[in-house]
Amino acid sequence: MHQISFIGMGYVGLCTGVCFASKGYKTTLSDTDKVKVDSLNKGVSPFYEPNLEEMLWEAVNKGCLKATLGRGEAISRSNITFITVGTPSKPDGGIDLRFVRSAAEEIGRALKKKESHHLVVMKSTVIPGTTEGVVKPLLEKRSGKRCGTDFSLCVNPEFLREGSAIHDTLNPGRIIIGEHDKKSGDILEDLYREFYRCKMLPIVRANIPTAELVKYATNAFLAAKISFINQIANICEKIPKVDVKTVAKGLGLDKRIERLFLNAGLGYGGSCLPKDVKALIAFSTALGYDPMFFRSVDEVNEAQPYRAVELARRTLGDLEGKHIAILGLAFKPNTDDIRESVSMKIIDKLLEGGASVVAYDPAAMNNTKKLLGNRIDYASSAIECIKGVDCCIVATEWNEFRQLRPDDFVHHMKTHIVVDGRRIYDPEEYSRKLKFTAIGLGQ
Ligand code: NAD
Repeated sequence: MHQISFIGMGYVGLCTGVCFASKGYKTTLSDTDKVKVDSLNKGVSPFYEPNLEEMLWEAVNKGCLKATLGRGEAISRSNITFITVGTPSKPDGGIDLRFVRSAAEEIGRALKKKESHHLVVMKSTVIPGTTEGVVKPLLEKRSGKRCGTDFSLCVNPEFLREGSAIHDTLNPGRIIIGEHDKKSGDILEDLYREFYRCKMLPIVRANIPTAELVKYATNAFLAAKISFINQIANICEKIPKVDVKTVAKGLGLDKRIERLFLNAGLGYGGSCLPKDVKALIAFSTALGYDPMFFRSVDEVNEAQPYRAVELARRTLGDLEGKHIAILGLAFKPNTDDIRESVSMKIIDKLLEGGASVVAYDPAAMNNTKKLLGNRIDYASSAIECIKGVDCCIVATEWNEFRQLRPDDFVHHMKTHIVVDGRRIYDPEEYSRKLKFTAIGLGQ
């Protein structure tokens, strides 16, 4: 059985690592963050993800999963290493390869001391050319070995979604393998065939830059679907009695289009879609090609969170002195991740307009407190959050918020104004009892 290591134990490294360990693979995770490493070795997840905590606890107790600060130790305990460090945006939108470079150097140094064959797999999202142009030379330079003969190299983009990361890792739709050479691709395909056993997974093998581009093409397409339906939603709001939800239903039944990713709302956030679209724009621009379409996708998304503020203003009037509740801080349900969350943009705009804000989220309170401190108030439940406020904006579609009934808002709010930014409430039911507005709902 292969022995696996991950360099970088964020959402991708940790969730994928735990899945390998749960199937009995000896798995080692390495990170530069001592708090994360210590937490993991105690069987405690450093972040929230459904099912992660239980699987992590079991894997650590069975002795299948270990975390370490030493990259060298991770490499020596394994024969396959996945690079899963972050690839954030630079201020100009281009990809920041700082973590990728340091990971490649550290792996290269560790490979120098290793005698047995090793496969290095780039799982982080990187622009085409990175693995062959940056990672491979660093690995070769630091190890003094040759790629393709002394060690193997692949790209294997990750498609898991936060909020269902464990499920997605155990049930992927496809596997993309970008191979430096046939032997490299064969080792990785063997690992996945063994891991998924009888599941007949489509595996696409390609050269390295092609595999790198598949990831960007996927995220740009998903982002485009979201910006597309959001733009339709903004048009719907100008046509009496038209509701984007029905438009999306009619549209999504077309097999060529498909219903997924056609939920109008306040735009996409998180650590992937925004940065990947921006990186693709910066990358194409640097190649001398103007990606007009992707620029528009990004522009629509940048503006979309402010639709919620506009809708609030329409009923509330001037924001100055108003007390506004925000339900939902995570960038999507079932995660505590607030990276590029639309709620943060909405809160900034409300505060700028002179309103005061109280917020609640089932999982992301601690992360938000770290980011916003005392700029806003925090509630310990959805009901406490809406008590005495002039307006409530629903910014994340947690199931907990779907349980609220119009009477809950009527009983607890000072002024009964609700803005449904994620289309979780029935407009007819809510409009009967409240001043109700929603994204994509023609008045
Ligand atoms: P993350 O920011 O949550 O975690 C990255 C981790 O890498 C951090 O814990 C950091 O401390 C660690 N790190 C940085 N440099 C290191 C080094 N030299 N050695 C060891 N550890 C180091 O990132 P993430 O969300 O897991 O994303 C990782 C990559 O996967 C990114 O390229 C991202 O675009 C891609 N991706 C993310 C998701 C997702 O849903 N989060 C999905 C698909 C792909």
